[in-house]
Amino acid sequence: MPDKFTFARRLDRIEMSGIRKIFELAQGVKDAVDFSLGQPHFDTPAEVKAAAIQAIQNGFNRYTVTQGIPALREKIRSELARKWGFRDGDVMVTAGVAGGLFLATAALVDKGDEVIVPDPYFVLYRQLVNFFLGVPVLLDTYPDFRIRPEKLEALITPRTKLILFNNPVNPTGTAYTAAEVAAIAAVARKHGVLLASDEIYEAFSYDFPHESMLRHDPGALLMGGFGKTYAIPGWRLGFAAGPREIIEKMNLLQQFSFVCAPSPAQAAGVAALSLDMKPYIDEYRRKRDFVYEGLRDRYEVVKPQGAFYIFPKCPSGDDQTFVRRAIENKVLIVPGGACSQHQTHFRLSFAASDPDLARGVEILNRLALDS
Ligand code: PMP
Repeated sequence: MPDKFTFARRLDRIEMSGIRKIFELAQGVKDAVDFSLGQPHFDTPAEVKAAAIQAIQNGFNRYTVTQGIPALREKIRSELARKWGFRDGDVMVTAGVAGGLFLATAALVDKGDEVIVPDPYFVLYRQLVNFFLGVPVLLDTYPDFRIRPEKLEALITPRTKLILFNNPVNPTGTAYTAAEVAAIAAVARKHGVLLASDEIYEAFSYDFPHESMLRHDPGALLMGGFGKTYAIPGWRLGFAAGPREIIEKMNLLQQFSFVCAPSPAQAAGVAALSLDMKPYIDEYRRKRDFVYEGLRDRYEVVKPQGAFYIFPKCPSGDDQTFVRRAIENKVLIVPGGACSQHQTHFRLSFAASDPDLARGVEILNRLALDS
């Protein structure tokens, strides 16, 4: 390294993900059941694979327009219009929801801007706000992991730029009802604050139909994804829908960063949107029931209603100690502190095979008994 070498100061504001640390701990453990991953365990549907392969073979490998191919944007737009009455805003295709979140934060958050982030949160939110010199203001949702509108309202100040809403929630599995989404939208509207709503787990809603923020706040910025629903997280495909002015700036930034979402993935996205994923979701509802029923006697745990995570309280000690013990006993889970200011819970992803879930639940129950 040259003598005068230094990293950009903004990097000091980013911490290594607690999930990565667990990966490293788990390296030496053989035959472990892996409940640490935030991705579906099923294979990509054949139709989606075929569409991507065909796109590649047809030579659809060049850059696309920044905002995404018209066929995909149109299909997303008509779905949003049909489901949530989306009319006036614009739609762009992003390089995953992470890509969309990066562009949105870059476009919106200035130094010192406050961004309300419900806690527990998806790790990226807090890091991105910090990276762009904003101030994450955590909204504590323990112990039932639901946002109370009055608590949200109490955190709003003249510096509040954005509320980062997630529904269903990673890592708690909370899914918000229509009444709850409406109440949150009402708080944002009353104070004139922009809502960004990450609905990547929209399809994974087990107890009632998913309710989008778009229906209650037509000015919200929606982030939607393909990676979880169609088991293509590595293809980097997502979308953003919302006010034209915001999408325009996000496109400007995409032009100089991601350039466009991968072209074969965009072509496959058109095919994916015609698929009925209900059988997959039914399977995940069954897994949710199995894990919840299996743990509830020995763990303090809230029943998840969406996504594919459950977030129980550690039976003893802090989350790092318990997760280390679990890993030694061949169960890979994520310490709650990786996605929260509290170090009391752990995240288990039930996107796993039935035999793995059975084995993992048995081991976790043994650990709770020994605690
Ligand atoms: N939002 C949430 C809530 C997530 O859990 C994830 C993935 N773990 C993402 C966004 C990122 O999704 P993508 O792979 O589409 O970037």
